[in-house]
Amino acid sequence: SLPFTEDEQQLLATIGTSLSLTLRNADAHQHLQDMALRDALTEVLNRRALDEPLKRELKSGLRYGAPACLLIIDIDYFKTVNDRLGHPAGDMVLKQLAALMTDTVRDIDMVGRYGGEEFMIILPHTSIEQALSLAERLRTSIECHAFDVEDGIVRLTASIGIADVCDPAIASVDDWVNAADMALYDAKAQGRNRVVVHTPAPFAPA
Ligand code: GH3
Ligand code: MG
Ligand code: MG
Repeated sequence: SLPFTEDEQQLLATIGTSLSLTLRNADAHQHLQDMALRDALTEVLNRRALDEPLKRELKSGLRYGAPACLLIIDIDYFKTVNDRLGHPAGDMVLKQLAALMTDTVRDIDMVGRYGGEEFMIILPHTSIEQALSLAERLRTSIECHAFDVEDGIVRLTASIGIADVCDPAIASVDDWVNAADMALYDAKAQGRNRVVVHTPAPFAPA
């Protein structure tokens, strides 16, 4: 004879259905949550999602002196890509660049889209020397990459600013981002297609 009565089988079937629906909902919920943290075009972290890891790394930097570096990457003369090839081609380039960056970094590093054609990479447990070597590797792979567009390829370069969270001038996330931004500005001013590390202004004598 069967181990379960007909009533029991009915009950088990009901529980099974309800459980599978719950799991499917949890899955969908997790998926939606992930989507809310991702940039729709490039699928890397969006600006809002970068906030939490920036705060976290700043906190352990200030508290334990744990090193962490922030990279801001900005495409050189990106406006000309849009102007010559159209906005959709520009979008294709941004997607491929995001993928290239994700492939270049380690699993624990966080890649995000900070603005239009500006990206951020947060490197936990990373000294300025290590960050510099990664940034240089990234700069070179961007320079060597053929980006596919509708009817051909595009070549481009990018400039990168770096700031170490242990930089004595940094006391907030804004300070940290500004420091990397200033270094990026210097990289542009020095001729683009280069990596610049933020150096705190020399202490002004009284
Ligand atoms: P620079 O070397 O000084 O960085 O020059 P640039 O042309 O890259 O800089 P600028 O800030 O003048 O232009 C950035 C351009 O990026 C302008 C804008 O049209 C383009 N852009 C921003 N967001 C997007 C986007 O989502 N898709 C596309 N296709 N273009 C974008
Ligand atoms: Mg820009
Ligand atoms: Mg640019």
